[in-house]
Amino acid sequence: MNGDASGRPEDAAVALLRDLTGRAPEGVWSAPGRVNLIGEHTDYNDGYVLPFAIPHRTYAAVARRDDGRIRVASTFADRPVEVAVADLPGLFPASTPWAASDEWAAYPIGVAWALHLAGAAATGVDIAISSDVPVGAGLSSSAAIEGATASALNDLWGAALDGTALAGIGRRAENEAVGAPTGIMDQMASMLGETDSALFLDCRTLEARAVPLGMADAGLAILVIDTRVTHAHSSGGYRERRASCEEGARLMGVAALRDVSVGDLGRASALMNDVTFRRVRHVVTENQRVLDTVAAVHASSLEAVGDLLTASHASMRDDFEISVPELDTAVQTALDAGAIGARMTGGGFGGAAIALVAHAAVPAVSDAVTAAFAQSGFTAPHIFEVTPSAGARRDM
Ligand code: ADP
Ligand code: MG
Repeated sequence: MNGDASGRPEDAAVALLRDLTGRAPEGVWSAPGRVNLIGEHTDYNDGYVLPFAIPHRTYAAVARRDDGRIRVASTFADRPVEVAVADLPGLFPASTPWAASDEWAAYPIGVAWALHLAGAAATGVDIAISSDVPVGAGLSSSAAIEGATASALNDLWGAALDGTALAGIGRRAENEAVGAPTGIMDQMASMLGETDSALFLDCRTLEARAVPLGMADAGLAILVIDTRVTHAHSSGGYRERRASCEEGARLMGVAALRDVSVGDLGRASALMNDVTFRRVRHVVTENQRVLDTVAAVHASSLEAVGDLLTASHASMRDDFEISVPELDTAVQTALDAGAIGARMTGGGFGGAAIALVAHAAVPAVSDAVTAAFAQSGFTAPHIFEVTPSAGARRDM
């Protein structure tokens, strides 16, 4: 039912809570998925990223209960999962305390766990979740479920944490409860996104600044091309890339690759093997591309933004080696059909690409990509336009 186009996910969340409890929710909170305009695999290297929140959101309809139990249900899952508040502290990090089919529950219950450890006065609660964020497509349905849950519990448990702190709660849940070693970008974008803006985020200091994109004024659209090749963040490829980055930083004698500039790459190449060097080169040049993109947006130079997106894709394909044929086909076909720029987005090994496209060219680009996928025998892609949207909020 997740991603069901026939009903609004906020209504589905409320209906699920009613099914579960026979009651109306005390409130509904939501948080969006995100697309990363540029800055890939820079977050855990203390670098820069430029994501924006998308219109697709995950909703949590929530009501407190007085028996000290926490129950989570999702329209995406077969059945609810329940734990006792008293058991929260010992739940994570641990081998998953429930069946494989219930693993999704580590996201919302992990958020409850992390909030409780951060000092929130946890009480029993029923949480019903529904979403139209595509799952496992690189659009961060994980940050959306974390953000919706964290926002709800922050209010109901009187924790009064701000958006940046709640992003940290979501990240802790994802890292330590789910066991996926992701950076902070997704949660920050989902918590702090603003309409019509991207979020320029320094992942070392967590300083965040909205960068108005002016897409509509410029007559531009951003297309998401979901290849429907599902990735798995916690799988080997992601861990391996992180390990290479850490090794590269160690060999360069810096705390993180953020501290290496493009001018240092000559020295880097002499210090490490070819594979590690190429991983380092991706991160170092990608950080610079984020800074250059922010400058190009300020200068209203959207052609330059397009070139930076396309260069980012080449770097991920050739140096970081996290692309797949479907993503390369999506990017190349979009460019051939007139896109201003295109790149894979998200962690890689599947997921989605984005294309910066003049509004008038949207149908031509979409049709060309769909045709190219059919030609190559790939599963038909999902192609849709996204506009930069608002971050986490209370809806009712
Ligand atoms: P992405 O964040 O790119 O969509 P992840 O692998 O990081 O992919 O997160 C996807 C996982 O998050 C799902 O497999 C599921 O466990 C959990 N999840 C996301 N959205 C929901 C939802 N609406 N209901 C239940 N679980 C969800
Ligand atoms: Mg995710």
